[in-house]
Amino acid sequence: MSANLISGNEISASVNHETAAEAASIAAEYGIQPALAVILVGEDPASQVYVNRKAKKCVELGIRSEKIVLPADTQESELLAVIARLNADPSIHGILVQSPVPKHIDEQKVVLAIDPTKDVDCFHPMNVGRMMLGDFSGFLPCTPWGVITMLQRSGISPAGKKAVVLGRSNIVGKPMAAMLSANNELGNATVATCHSRTKDLEFYTKNADIIVAAIGIPNFLKGDQVSEGAVIIDVGINRIADSAAKNGCRLVGDVDFESVAPKASYITPVPGGVGPMTIAMLMKNTIRACKAAIARGQTK
Ligand code: NDP
Repeated sequence: MSANLISGNEISASVNHETAAEAASIAAEYGIQPALAVILVGEDPASQVYVNRKAKKCVELGIRSEKIVLPADTQESELLAVIARLNADPSIHGILVQSPVPKHIDEQKVVLAIDPTKDVDCFHPMNVGRMMLGDFSGFLPCTPWGVITMLQRSGISPAGKKAVVLGRSNIVGKPMAAMLSANNELGNATVATCHSRTKDLEFYTKNADIIVAAIGIPNFLKGDQVSEGAVIIDVGINRIADSAAKNGCRLVGDVDFESVAPKASYITPVPGGVGPMTIAMLMKNTIRACKAAIARGQTK
């Protein structure tokens, strides 16, 4: 079998197209431009790249972007004050603080400080809880929502399928498992979650119809660990050394594409797979935030 490639570049382009149309129609109808504030604390180069990508995507889609860069030695109280200012600003609809924050700042306090109605990353317990209870009408966690959208738009329904999620992080693995098993048209899979303490991981992967890999180990999942015809979604983004590459490294996923692709029915590439979907869903959450603000009576 040779796998069909699920292109995150193509699917995210169609999602972004819809988002741009929604932003334009909000502007035309209400005179309001959806706006996202992104806060970066410190100078981590990867975080700078992510923040710039998000800001650029906002501009492309007609969303106003406010980028706030704070020095690495910013005190927790100063960051919380910036968040409080943005919470109170009606012209800002979404707020995110780029992770990771410097070690002297308590990330959990930061998550809790963001007004849940502006929590476009869907990290606040109120929004996570709402999603866990099966209400998908509010914010949804960007990466898992991106995966669900890729499946949906590739005509793959999780309903009745055996799905395995590799990884149980709060950002990817846990919400991914919850969305796949949700009692609604996007979910209805029977889901196993594997992690570093899982014994006999192969037992689960070999029996899975759908595997979502999110563990952060380059090329972890091999072809002999998956069944013929499985759908493989690779969330992993790992930088590995490559002397042939211009900058001495390249990106690979958590899936060993070479050995897995010949057995899979569908597979996502890295790069160009889940990555662009995550940003596309962040933009969708920003539109949801803006629409909800308008529904609450916001007029400017
Ligand atoms: P975390 O490091 O937070 O979590 C990794 C998970 O993998 C943990 O649950 C851990 O188990 C599990 N794990 C680690 N080693 C093994 C192993 N040998 N066998 C089974 N499970 C294992 O990572 P994230 O969830 O944040 O990210 C995962 C990957 O996805 C990374 O490559 C990251 O860069 C990428 N990513 C990509 C995004 C995108 O937009 N495409 C967005 C977010 C992340 P335990 O809980 O027991 O420690």
